[in-house]
Amino acid sequence: MISSDLLSGQTALVTGASRGIGKAIALKLGEAGAEVIVNYSNSPQKAEEVVAAIKSTGGKAYAIQANVSNEEEVNKLIKAIIERNGQIDVLINNAGITRDGLLMRMKTEDWQDVMNLNLNGVFLCTRAVSRPMLKQKRGRIINVTSVVGLMGNAGQANYAAAKAGVIGFTKSAAKEFASRGITVNAVAPGFISTDMTKGLEVDGILAAIPLGSFGTPEQVAGTVKFLAADPSAAYITGQVIQVDGGMVMS
Ligand code: NAP
Repeated sequence: MISSDLLSGQTALVTGASRGIGKAIALKLGEAGAEVIVNYSNSPQKAEEVVAAIKSTGGKAYAIQANVSNEEEVNKLIKAIIERNGQIDVLINNAGITRDGLLMRMKTEDWQDVMNLNLNGVFLCTRAVSRPMLKQKRGRIINVTSVVGLMGNAGQANYAAAKAGVIGFTKSAAKEFASRGITVNAVAPGFISTDMTKGLEVDGILAAIPLGSFGTPEQVAGTVKFLAADPSAAYITGQVIQVDGGMVMS
């Protein structure tokens, strides 16, 4: 049973939706009535499971494989969605990776891989949806950044730089698109329990989180859904909303 129809009749693309935070976002937007495109890179079976979960509650979804750091694949992905749905109303730029290492020893390839997906991918997907959204005079774009982009983190210079870049990008896009009814915001999670944070030494990290625990993908997804679907979010743009248990307070 769909729990609300806030996004009924709308098309939502979630990049990196086969696992973790992207999966939770896809499920939430599906629940809100959107037809969800579950993008993935290497996990077709997991993506199909997300599609099946959305359909099992009466929602609509389908999966498309695309490496969103690749310009050609992104353009093909958006073209396929427009051909099938005729519109794209919500874009969630969620796909991301880490390639951690101390700066002095960081391989150029690890720097570039993180930039290519976590920053360039956001640019490529946003540019590709901008034409249809500008035509529609309506759209919601939400970029998943990180508190690491606000505070920096030893061993994550590549990731922090990309995520900080996403914040500047979000604010610039918000200013460019505001007059056409398109909002652009960022959500900055702290430490969330997913494959990405599996194996981290939690003790030291927990001491830095006032609320005392890692967050869940569903908690991030709830904030994304608010920005994507809630009518009151129509007056919010260019903002970075932290979902971090109080880790970074400015
Ligand atoms: P995750 O569990 O590792 O999942 C990553 C997702 O991205 C998977 O669905 C994966 O697809 C997809 N992906 C990877 N490379 C891709 C590519 N080239 N093209 C398309 N999709 C690709 O990560 P997560 O923890 O959910 O993180 C999601 C986002 O939240 C990322 O942007 C991350 O930086 C951000 N974030 C996470 C945390 C955290 O604590 N977990 C904190 C702050 C921010 P496949 O399954 O097909 O590989």
